[in-house]
Amino acid sequence: MKVLIINSGSSSLKFQLLDFDKRVVMAQGICERIGIDNSRIQFRRYDEEKIKHNRDFETHEDAVRAMVEILTSPQYGVISDLAEIEAIGHRVVHGAESFAEPAVVTEEVKDCIREAFLWGPLHNPANLLGIEVCERLMEGIPQVAVFDTAFHQTMPPEAYLYALPYELYEEHGVRRYGFHGTSHQYVSERAAAMCESDPENCKIIVCHLGNGSSLCAVKNGKSIDTSMGLTPLAGLPMGTRCGDIDPAIPGFIADVEHLTLQEIDNLMNKRSGVLGLSGISSDFRDLVAARDRGHARAKLAIDIFTYQLKKYIGAYAAALGGLDILCFTAGVGENDDELRYEVCKDLGFLGIEIDQEKNRGLRSKEARISTKDSKVAVLVIPTNEELSIARQTVRLLGLADA
Ligand code: ADP
Repeated sequence: MKVLIINSGSSSLKFQLLDFDKRVVMAQGICERIGIDNSRIQFRRYDEEKIKHNRDFETHEDAVRAMVEILTSPQYGVISDLAEIEAIGHRVVHGAESFAEPAVVTEEVKDCIREAFLWGPLHNPANLLGIEVCERLMEGIPQVAVFDTAFHQTMPPEAYLYALPYELYEEHGVRRYGFHGTSHQYVSERAAAMCESDPENCKIIVCHLGNGSSLCAVKNGKSIDTSMGLTPLAGLPMGTRCGDIDPAIPGFIADVEHLTLQEIDNLMNKRSGVLGLSGISSDFRDLVAARDRGHARAKLAIDIFTYQLKKYIGAYAAALGGLDILCFTAGVGENDDELRYEVCKDLGFLGIEIDQEKNRGLRSKEARISTKDSKVAVLVIPTNEELSIARQTVRLLGLADA
């Protein structure tokens, strides 16, 4: 069964065609710089054949046309007819309180995605555009929307409400929503399976550490807390985002730097995090290299990230009332063995004992990196949001036992 996964952004459209039964990626690609100059499509096939074409994409419709052309092209393609695709799964960032589960795309579902533009103004319009273009160009193929926020809809009010006037929640939906839900769900399910634990009776913390980072506390298969909030700016410091700060700081900066709200928003989203702290890069590989050369602020940025991560793990162990499994995933979590060690080495009081023989040098591979006697299993699990979206799509449409 072939399932197409679409991640439609404001100026890019990523796609992946999966042979779901074999769990094999048949082809994947990205259309970049839609509506900007120098737009291009990059495409890679299962046999590693890579192509890169420069072509003009004025609109998302042009990009989807290019994707269809290449997937079915006699020279590079992997299918001969679009009808071979049985379902399309779309990543949608914000489902607000309307979606605790994925949803088959209907007019009503599209209206709800539109209503959530308020909370996901950067992503939801582009996500919806991707859905509408696919409906037009690939008519008849069922489509499913899978929401980044859905997994966190199980959080209790004490975790999702802010201590602001309650009317702001009632009238404008000001609350914690959380993001990376597809990844947290996938990784926590894999974690329980790897440990042969009963998912219904298991306390897990997932650390998704990439350009954007968030933690999730998963109790008995359900998210009970997560570090991102109303927007993905909250929680850990990230590549360029500040994470948690004193809420009075934006007002203070507005006064002393004479900046507008929009300029401060830009500063907190694009110029802060480990980039702002180090002054050199948002990329952890650059920071690790600079720190190892003796760059003091690169070291400071990594130390602050590590410290905040440890605090969140402690807080979530308390929220869960104990801990069975700690998981690391995404670019930094899957690859940075030193950071994993630095985070875990002082957490023995929680029952976390990392085994450096297993941890050192481990990159992007599922593995248990705790000692045999560690009370808490520490795991590295490469995230696979596309497979998770495909699985939820197939499950919802009743196409197979996913
Ligand atoms: P995104 O949030 O964009 O999906 P990723 O999950 O791909 O991000 O993570 C990107 C981050 O992972 C970058 O900061 C990158 O430097 C970091 N990363 C990748 N490989 C390594 C590595 N070997 N060591 C440290 N960091 C790494």
